[in-house]
Amino acid sequence: MTGLPTVAVDLGGTWLRIRGADGTCRVPAPSALRHPGVPVEELVERLLDALCSRVPTGSRVAVSCGAAMDEERKEIHGSGPLWGSGIERPIRLVDLLSERRPDSEWHLVNDVTAALADFVRRHARPGHRKVCYLTVSSGIALRTADVRTHTIPVDGAGLQGEVGHLRAVTSGPAAVQSLPCPCGGRGHVSSIAAGPALDGVARALGTGRTETLREELEARVRGGDDAAIRLWTLVVEPIAELVRTVWSLDPQIDLIGIGGGFVEARTALYRDELFRQVATVRSYADRGLDVEHLGDRLHVCEPGDVDPLDGVVAMADGALTVSKI
Ligand SMILES: [Zn+2]
Repeated sequence: MTGLPTVAVDLGGTWLRIRGADGTCRVPAPSALRHPGVPVEELVERLLDALCSRVPTGSRVAVSCGAAMDEERKEIHGSGPLWGSGIERPIRLVDLLSERRPDSEWHLVNDVTAALADFVRRHARPGHRKVCYLTVSSGIALRTADVRTHTIPVDGAGLQGEVGHLRAVTSGPAAVQSLPCPCGGRGHVSSIAAGPALDGVARALGTGRTETLREELEARVRGGDDAAIRLWTLVVEPIAELVRTVWSLDPQIDLIGIGGGFVEARTALYRDELFRQVATVRSYADRGLDVEHLGDRLHVCEPGDVDPLDGVVAMADGALTVSKI
């Protein structure tokens, strides 16, 4: 089916965004994050209802989903924000959608894959070999494309860069190291560095009232508030360590984009702390990572720098190919 009107969908833990001919609408996501305790089967049913009721007949629907998945086999392995830790077997979302709405053509990719496709489209430059995109929002994940071959290499299960559920590198106290993760684990990168983790880290540190923390954070950090600076250092630290690790393991990565709602809500604050930590010289191996030159290799996104809805359509158009070879 070609020439169908395109509907782009971004399914995150917090919002379900749908862009069609009439513009973009945003509805609360039927997720475990919003509905803790609701069984996975029920959440999937609500998702199918939400999507199928909003997609016009005879559409090409490009869906990006904040979940670990095998994009080739179209199987979803799991998503902490969307379905918690409760998936017993892979969810075949495209099959379920196609059964309900066979009039439309359904495409599904991981949301970080979609964001990477748009980041590459907008920010990759001639001479770049590999480009990464790391999202820091309700969850955390990273994806890398080889822009010379227009491919995203993945493992046999279709996965790549599910870094949010690695143990975080942190200099925080035991209370921070053991913070829970939506996946059921503890002390994961997402437990400390994802958007929803901020309040938990603040409580673990005894930073004070958390109700107004998000609004006050930038002013308190800029104003030299020691407790806020300590909190902010610890929240950014696992991401700075990931960046160091990525560059250490793959010298062909010429550009890393860091975006997602948590970063884009405070881009300058995030960039300043991330650059400070990544540029800190800790050994002879850190040569060249000075703040002045980091901007060429590390792009901290402003709102609108990356549009997953554009990216998911680019993936449906074949801009990048997910490859197990
Ligand atoms: Zn986790």
